[in-house]
Amino acid sequence: MLSCCLRLCVSGLALPPPFLLQPPRAAGPSVRHLLLRTLNFNFRQPRLMKPLVVFVLGGPGAGKGTQCSRIVQKFGYTHLSAGDLLRDERNKPDSQYGELIEKYIREGEIVPVEITISLLKREMDRTMEANVQKNKFLIDGFPRNQDNLQGWNKTMDGKADVAFILFFDCDNEICIERCLERGKSSGRSDDNRESLGKRIQTYLQCTKPIIDLYEEMGKVRKVDASKSVDEVFGDVVKIFDKEG
Ligand code: ADP
Ligand code: AMP
Repeated sequence: MLSCCLRLCVSGLALPPPFLLQPPRAAGPSVRHLLLRTLNFNFRQPRLMKPLVVFVLGGPGAGKGTQCSRIVQKFGYTHLSAGDLLRDERNKPDSQYGELIEKYIREGEIVPVEITISLLKREMDRTMEANVQKNKFLIDGFPRNQDNLQGWNKTMDGKADVAFILFFDCDNEICIERCLERGKSSGRSDDNRESLGKRIQTYLQCTKPIIDLYEEMGKVRKVDASKSVDEVFGDVVKIFDKEG
């Protein structure tokens, strides 16, 4: 049993010194057990760190996903896109929410918060359970409205630290052109002019006020996303270097 516990420990924590790895004696608490208790090793459950979150916001097509994959490579974050998680859930044949999610996505509207948060939380938990060191997350496309924000505060209050909001600021026309270009190969049901009109409206009416709210709190780090991918990433790197 102890050896099984020890194996669990290996994945997450530093190994105890070799003399602590001897097999247990038949009965009674051994010196080793007492020592382990004193040293407070927790073999069953590696202690998970609190997730450190950067919310990534901006209009549709501002380049959030593009920049997030670069941030992942350079700074070791895990990228969770609310839109991707919802699309994955929609595509599961046994999902009870598939049809509902598709309807919201096609209309460019915001999916009910309970669904989005449960998907985000599940992915964060999975990531950290697989590797306790992986506690830094880029949450892309969230919080998109007041409902998202309240849901996050209710569910995640005290359970995660939001470092800052990375805001990709991009002209609406550029956003639309990029999404139409992406739509030639993305297969997305919302990369078309009709859906994009609605998505831009949703962004302006629902998401921008959330960014403004965080701005008042001094939490927004804004990047001019109309520049080239490399230029935008150059500015992003400066922010992450500074924020640590
Ligand atoms: P978002 O995640 O914000 O919806 P994406 O990262 O998917 O946006 O980018 C939308 C489209 O625009 C993609 O086809 C991508 O290749 C392209 N793109 C992203 N950033 C830039 C940029 N800075 N300049 C030109 N095209 C870009
Ligand atoms: P995106 O991939 O970020 O462009 O998102 C595509 C669509 O997924 C949006 O237009 C919404 O319908 C849905 N969606 C993405 N993020 C959220 C969110 N945080 N809350 C609810 N719906 C979302």
